[in-house]
Amino acid sequence: TLTAKQTRAWLLNFSNKIHDNKQYLSDLDQAIGDGDHGSNMSRGVTAVEAAITDESLEKASDVMKKAAMAMVSKVGGASGPLYGSAFLEMAKVIDNEAIARVIAAGLDGIKKRGKAEVEDKTMVDMWAPVVDALQDGRLSVEAIEEAKAQTKPLKAKKGRASYLNERSIGHLDPGAVSSSYLFIALLEEVE
Ligand code: ADP
Ligand code: MG
Ligand code: MG
Repeated sequence: TLTAKQTRAWLLNFSNKIHDNKQYLSDLDQAIGDGDHGSNMSRGVTAVEAAITDESLEKASDVMKKAAMAMVSKVGGASGPLYGSAFLEMAKVIDNEAIARVIAAGLDGIKKRGKAEVEDKTMVDMWAPVVDALQDGRLSVEAIEEAKAQTKPLKAKKGRASYLNERSIGHLDPGAVSSSYLFIALLEEVE
């Protein structure tokens, strides 16, 4: 299980990757959405950074809960409540469960909130294969990159990209890409 310190390092690493790729994430969203995913996420993780710096947060769950609230309150787009639900469900189990179970709880939160299933071309298409890989003890950067690439041929069935129907085919899903940074950060900080 994760300590508060590990959880903080994980989320700060994620935050850095979001800032570094802000323009790229918005460009991806420009192709099949409204072009704001990078700025939405960047605003969100800036609030996460401020919220989790509080040294009085003793448990991983305290850190995760703060991060969840920051995402919900600071991100206007669909992705805010989705990441918020994920982090909140993760907070409920993170002090007691292995990481595979923690990410699985996050995935359940996303599915409950957004009603998307695998192959709807959403962040679910990153979280679900990551859960499978963690359960088999084989999460790697390659597995994450492969999951990301597999969103490209999909037709969007949820979110703004679904308005494009067939024209959503041939583009990476922005939320799957931002989620890929969360899991690469996990590999870098925790594994
Ligand atoms: P908005 O679409 O409101 O502008 P963002 O651009 O920040 O919000 O986020 C878009 C991303 O949110 C998509 O790329 C997709 O991964 C994710 N998303 C949208 N709707 C859903 C949903 N119902 N379930 C899961 N993920 C979703
Ligand atoms: Mg958008
Ligand atoms: Mg938007």
